Amino acid sequence: MTTEYAQLTWEEVRAADKDRVILLNVSATEDHGPHLPLDTDAVIGQAILEGVAERAPEEVFLVPPLPYGLNEHHKDFPGVIWIQPETLLAFLTDITHSLAHHGFRRILLLNSHGSNHPVLDLAARKTVIESEVICVAASYWNLCKDRLRSLRRSSPGGIAHAGEMETALYAHLHPDRVHWERAVDRNLHRPASRFFHLDLTEGGGRAMLMRWWSEESPDGTMGEPTQADPATGQQFLEAAVEATTALVREIRALPILPRRDHH
Ligand SMILES: [Zn+2]
Repeated sequence: MTTEYAQLTWEEVRAADKDRVILLNVSATEDHGPHLPLDTDAVIGQAILEGVAERAPEEVFLVPPLPYGLNEHHKDFPGVIWIQPETLLAFLTDITHSLAHHGFRRILLLNSHGSNHPVLDLAARKTVIESEVICVAASYWNLCKDRLRSLRRSSPGGIAHAGEMETALYAHLHPDRVHWERAVDRNLHRPASRFFHLDLTEGGGRAMLMRWWSEESPDGTMGEPTQADPATGQQFLEAAVEATTALVREIRALPILPRRDHH
């Protein structure tokens, strides 16, 4: 049986193993510096899920991805398509409730755009409460942070947006679409701050302030794209695929627990 949910017939859905983990990538369509295309987050997120499907073909279904996200703060850059958080939350929970309605019990919302993280977390929580299935939200870089730290060449702040990691990943996946000659490092790391940290391997810091992107970066880049290379991109991808596959297997092993109303 295919891992592509949309290629199943309705009878195949009816007969399918409902403990396969449904994988949904949520990303964004937005500026990624002068050197990367608008679809960077979408390409990376789906590549990770395709890697998981290759490793665990009997354990997952990939539903069609959502290439839009929470990024109105990017709209000073031409090309950005943004979704309001309320819309995104409602859209995501409509998808998860649909899947639960058809009997699927385990869902992973895999985020590949930083600002989606809190919305996906809420969507997973709402799904658990309202549909009573297991629904997990995760951003891929959080799943493989340690590995990213050991593979990286850039300094702190170098992996944020269109920086070393995304540029390397995209260069590995589609070398012909990266405009290396336009890549400029914009490392906005503030070593003096105790709480703010832009680097994704630091989880974005202990406190969160998301400003207008154009206030912080003159060309959309935050990080060190010149440190990127396709070979490291392949290793970043393997790290993300390995960690996401491990997460999928943990989700499959989670018991479905009964509720107890103690009124
Ligand atoms: Zn990105």
